[in-house]
Amino acid sequence: MKIRIGMIAAILAIAAFFSVAIAGETYFKFNIDSRDELRKLTHIISIDNVDGNEVHAYANERELDEFKSLGYTYEVLPHPGTLIQPRMATDKRGMDTWDSYPTYEAYVAMMYQFETDYPLICDVQTIGYTVQGRELIFAKISDNVNTDENEPEVCFTSTMHGDETTGYVLMLRLIDSLLTGYTASDPRIVDMVDNMEIWINPLANPDGTYNGGNSSVYGATRYNANGVDPNRNFPDPQDGPHPDGQSWQPETVAMMDLAEAHMLVISANFHGGAEVVNYPWDTWSTRHADDQWFQDISHMYADTVHAFSSGYMTGFNNGITNGWDWYEVDGGRQDYMTYFRGGREVTIELSSTKLLPANELPAHW
Ligand SMILES: [Zn+2]
Repeated sequence: MKIRIGMIAAILAIAAFFSVAIAGETYFKFNIDSRDELRKLTHIISIDNVDGNEVHAYANERELDEFKSLGYTYEVLPHPGTLIQPRMATDKRGMDTWDSYPTYEAYVAMMYQFETDYPLICDVQTIGYTVQGRELIFAKISDNVNTDENEPEVCFTSTMHGDETTGYVLMLRLIDSLLTGYTASDPRIVDMVDNMEIWINPLANPDGTYNGGNSSVYGATRYNANGVDPNRNFPDPQDGPHPDGQSWQPETVAMMDLAEAHMLVISANFHGGAEVVNYPWDTWSTRHADDQWFQDISHMYADTVHAFSSGYMTGFNNGITNGWDWYEVDGGRQDYMTYFRGGREVTIELSSTKLLPANELPAHW
């Protein structure tokens, strides 16, 4: 009995050690007395969710030290990237039923295989490299794919927060669906592929997602390998070019270069940790000039998922929220794309669980 208690204590100690921080990244919660406190806090830590007075946030070691000096009482939580042992696939065949996460090598191979299998409508491009040298990959899908035609360019990217993995696999499946649907002459997909240029980047922060190594998404982090939150690292309409006080990260620069080289008229940025469509602005309470239009398209998305699943994405205003109303984000990509690039971007939170068990991915599709 004594040995068993000792063993349990040892296991708990080890679990506590790993839950505190992975790659120096801590996940924690605390309470605020008023929303005004967020204005200051959002420049110190990375706020992840605000529900009433309860705040969930991430911090690297430097950020946590600064937060501690403010005197808040906080509770360290198990890191979302460590809660499950995700099922992994090491090749494309292992992804056939879309209920596994690919290893990093399997992901890269899959992306280039799409181009090999569908060269007339799929062009796969590496737009840059991460801090640790992993590839930032887009699939461009269109008819006459190697010609820059006079067509609207639309963009989907996922998982810039490395531990929010649901959209990662769903974007791979979206690419596959568009390519196979076009080949099968699905009229709706043919119409989209013939008349748009569709850019899809399943994994915007591979260093975060594969923080634990290329063979598993276990241990995925929110931040990139420099301990920077990619979704606080963009120029901000109100807070200037470097709202987080950090230089632009390689992941940020690659995305900004793509956005400057193209006219992405509408885009969606997939995240996890909640179920909601979040529309501009994040940085201030002012409404977008086309606020009603943003509400309409956000409702259109939420209403569509409601038609397929009851009880999913039903919080907030029936599945949608203005960004600032939820909580202020400075340096987010949504506001950058919408304000500086003249696009229209929404942030779609796909699952309450960040590192979703792989067998739940098909239901989220
Ligand atoms: Zn996120």
